[in-house]
Amino acid sequence: MQPASLLVLIIEDEQPIRRFLRVSLAAEGYRVAEAGTGEEGLRLAAQQPPDLVILDLGLPGIDGQEVLRRLREWLSAPIVVLSARDQEKQKVEALDAGADDYVTKPFGVGELLARMRTSLRHANRPAADSTVVSIGDVRVDLAARLVFRANQEVHLTPLEYKLLVTLLKHSGKVLTHRFLLREVWGPQDSQETHYLRVFIASLRRKLEAEPARPRYILTEPGVGYRLVAE
Ligand code: CA
Repeated sequence: MQPASLLVLIIEDEQPIRRFLRVSLAAEGYRVAEAGTGEEGLRLAAQQPPDLVILDLGLPGIDGQEVLRRLREWLSAPIVVLSARDQEKQKVEALDAGADDYVTKPFGVGELLARMRTSLRHANRPAADSTVVSIGDVRVDLAARLVFRANQEVHLTPLEYKLLVTLLKHSGKVLTHRFLLREVWGPQDSQETHYLRVFIASLRRKLEAEPARPRYILTEPGVGYRLVAE
């Protein structure tokens, strides 16, 4: 799909940021709808469902988290949240509540556009009907539960495999520590972020050419991890 046909809804109360976003996105060929409050954003989204939402977390009236929860009741389009530096906790909450990605203010438009493209690619990818998924030179055969790197079989422990498949299932999306721990280890261990660090490090050693400079399994500092399959 070409960006020209995509409608982006901006929900942001600060007018200068809204104007900057409108101009920057229009220059990239996106169609833009704007709302200065959460209420207005919800109304506009219902009138004309957007292909992507840029949502500020700090809004007057109903706040960004509530807007996110209400949108996620029916909208599957990607939601990229804007958060301030002192809103780390809210950012993680938003990702756990279904946001796809985030940008921290002040941000560069290049960074925002890149995150939007990743979210849109992820959202528009047709449902995989193949049991074999590739990430660079890594190939995962989901039916046989086998992993290969440069055509050599890589041995993963059951938990490493489960973590890799969870990352794959949501590739392109930022996954929080809490989400990954819950998915892989279960709700009782959702605070044990050191498990996650250990298993991510070992996946990188097995799958990345340069584990210290990963290309596939990226760290989102203070938030979680993201698998980049493109
Ligand atoms: Ca704000």
